[in-house]
Amino acid sequence: MARKLRSPAKSSSKLPETDGDGNHIYNEILLQLPPEEYDLVRSKLELVRLRTHHVLHEAGDTLKSVYFCNTGLISILSVFPDGKSVEVGLIGNEGFVGLPLVVGFRTAFTRAVAQIEATAFRVDGGAFTAILPRCPSLERQLQKFSQVLAMEVTQIAACNRLHEVDERLARWLLMSADRVGPNSLPLTQEFLAQMLGTRRSSVTVSAGILQRAGLITLTRGGVTIVDRPKLEEAACDCYGIMVRQVEGWRSAPQ
Ligand SMILES: [Zn+2]
Repeated sequence: MARKLRSPAKSSSKLPETDGDGNHIYNEILLQLPPEEYDLVRSKLELVRLRTHHVLHEAGDTLKSVYFCNTGLISILSVFPDGKSVEVGLIGNEGFVGLPLVVGFRTAFTRAVAQIEATAFRVDGGAFTAILPRCPSLERQLQKFSQVLAMEVTQIAACNRLHEVDERLARWLLMSADRVGPNSLPLTQEFLAQMLGTRRSSVTVSAGILQRAGLITLTRGGVTIVDRPKLEEAACDCYGIMVRQVEGWRSAPQ
């Protein structure tokens, strides 16, 4: 299985692929908007640069903004009162942060954090809810993305409980690479441990196993995928299950 989880967006219109300030748009949801809806959204977009570990919102926060992820990676974390957290979702340029606002819920249930340096188009929450009723295509796309994310969150929750750290690490590296594009991921083992909800020592052992098998190389502050097909074999079934589900949904008549 050498397919990527995300295929490039197929733009259904002749939209300019930059915003009004010349910033390149990579977000698949924005790229697929019909022109009349894009015109409504365009003036509300503000490109923001998110440093690594920048928190977009905490669990319980009132959602003041929504974000169309443009580059980089945003992690969705489940957070516990003792401060422990585990990643339950991963968003790249296919996605959006702020889904509760789509249906009128105003608070966040999870933490959203930039996992590596990212850019996103921010829209003020009030402006977003004001224009959404006039953008049926955008609303439908966000509902679809909500289903994809819910499917992935469900799978990852089971994965975190049932599968070994090295399988989960492989699954996680593949998911990240699918979203960022290049095979080199600027991620520390400390951060990987936080994402996988395990001890750093476990990640070190698992990463060492994958490196000795020639699947990845570890450098200071980064991970490079060397043999993607073998990394897919090393990952638990969850990666393939999620890939096939997204492909099935996308290719089905709508
Ligand atoms: Zn798994």
